[in-house]
Parts: sequence; C-alpha cells; structure tokens
Amino acid sequence: MSTPSPALPDSARCPCGSGDIFGDCCGPVLRQERRAGTAQALMRSRYTAFAVRDLEHLLASWHPRTRPPREELAGSLAQDVRWLRLEVLATAQGGPFDDTGTVEFVAISKSEQGRQEQHEVSRFVREDGSWYYVDGDT
Ligand SMILES: [Zn+2]
Repeated sequence: MSTPSPALPDSARCPCGSGDIFGDCCGPVLRQERRAGTAQALMRSRYTAFAVRDLEHLLASWHPRTRPPREELAGSLAQDVRWLRLEVLATAQGGPFDDTGTVEFVAISKSEQGRQEQHEVSRFVREDGSWYYVDGDT
C-alpha cells in the first residue's frame, strides 16, 4: 500500500492533468493560498485532493448542505485507490460571473477491484466568492 502525502512538490506535474506544475495549478488552492476562480478549477483541485489524500481541502470545498461526515470521507480516502487521470468533458457556466456551474468529467482510478471510470456531472455553487461542490449525477 502506498503512503500518499498532501505535500507534493510544487515542481511536480499537477495530478489534475492540466499540464501545469502543481505550484501553478492546484497546489495553492489546496493550501488555501488562492481560491478556485471557476467551477472547473475547483473540480480539478478536488480531483487532485483525492489523488493526494487532502481531506481538509475536500471538506472545505464541499457545500455544507451535502458534505459527508469527516470520518466517512477519511475512510474513503484511506482505501487503496490510485487516481490515474482526469478528463474534463464539458463545462456549463461556472465562470467568474456565475453563481452556479456544472462540470462533466471522467475520473479514472485503479484499486484492488481493477480499473474504474467514474463519469459524473458535478454541480457547483458560488457563495461569498468561493466555489463549492454540491453533488453530482453519475
Ligand atoms: Zn491542477
């Protein structure tokens, strides 16, 4: 079992697949140095948080109305899942002048059960300038 760490070097390729380095992409969002400017940026940072097991960012970016209990999320992060790739398929709204948005994506992971593709349309809302994940249809 691997021992993932939230401390990914800034020079590493960002797990979200943007093509940028972590320090110019999801890193500052996970460290709460910068807010995600769009729903897609928040979605990417949440994928990265799953990849590096950043429980705090996942909780902070989850809307309080739908946020799972800390223990439940910590339990799912403890599972031996490796996140291989994120593909953003489509976005609707979710921009700097919107208060809602959706992001359709496929997240590919690997676990003991084999390779899995999670295809989801996620819903986001922006409140007080911050984007939050609400829920999604898979
Ligand atoms: Zn990223």
